[in-house]
Amino acid sequence: MRVLVADSINEKGIAELEKVAEVVVNTNITHEELLESIKDFDAIIVRSRTKVTREVIEAAPRLKIIARAGVGVDNIDVKAATEKGIMVINAPESTSITVAEHTMGLMLALARKIHLADKSVKEGRWEKSKFMGMELNNKTLGVIGMGRIGSQVVKRAKSFGMNVLVHDPYISRETADEMGVEIVDLEELLKKSDIITIHVPLTSETRYLISDRELDMMKDTAFIINCARGGIVDEEALYNALNEGRIGGAALDVFEEEPPKGSPLLKLNNVVLTPHIGASTVEAQRDAAIIVANEIKKVFEG
Ligand code: NAD
Repeated sequence: MRVLVADSINEKGIAELEKVAEVVVNTNITHEELLESIKDFDAIIVRSRTKVTREVIEAAPRLKIIARAGVGVDNIDVKAATEKGIMVINAPESTSITVAEHTMGLMLALARKIHLADKSVKEGRWEKSKFMGMELNNKTLGVIGMGRIGSQVVKRAKSFGMNVLVHDPYISRETADEMGVEIVDLEELLKKSDIITIHVPLTSETRYLISDRELDMMKDTAFIINCARGGIVDEEALYNALNEGRIGGAALDVFEEEPPKGSPLLKLNNVVLTPHIGASTVEAQRDAAIIVANEIKKVFEG
């Protein structure tokens, strides 16, 4: 069996796979090279860089498994894979805590202006009064999507003394009660929250879930955080709302186009931006690689 590792994954996952297969690591592979070489592989492992399109799948007569060492499979044409009987696997639990921790980091950065204070000190200034912050304690956090990551954010926000509102049409009353959160509709969440954080998948239903109308419902001091997927927030509408002071600030780990070259958001002070590193911790990447390696081993071993 031959496995192509097309995006960089933790070496522990590769070591597991090498027990049962020949592993080729080529993390700079281009789309054209992939189209040419995929015919010689039984499995491919990707993160988010490599796009496993219908074209790639159709050029892969031996392929049995497409593995995403992480959560979102939006870089894989799952429909095309299913049509050809190719399994698509991922490691959905592996990164939840890591993304939730990143979300809390962005929340604190916005509340305490850490990004601006850091820049100011490094530029030789000492502007204590400029960086008056806001406590998270007693503030209302609106969580859009309370799945694996959203629930981890809820737990952490509660330990910070925050009141939590949740909008998620697919969770049960029991789950909400267990988590000690109030379920509200999107409008109420937008109107009442001091900080809003998004943890839904990108689907046709959630594309531009947050656009002009929704941003206008937010408090003019409120912050919004997107650690889910670019395209859930309409970036042009977000820029206008931030620039005109209709909302307080935003933190984005994901963008409509990555990297967000030339985006006017790059010039705003009330914005904290990170380069899609929500899942980038040693622990999450190790766990994701080991989980998908073990799944592939199970399939190969029948
Ligand atoms: P999940 O499937 O466990 O949870 C998603 C939740 O969203 C579910 O509870 C679902 O009911 C809810 N939902 C779906 N549509 C909704 C809607 N229209 N309105 C409100 N709620 C809705 O997924 P997860 O593991 O928590 O991951 C969430 C997303 O985070 C992933 O889809 C992925 O895009 C993103 N993610 C980003 C990074 C990163 O690096 N920044 C890493 C991992 C995951």
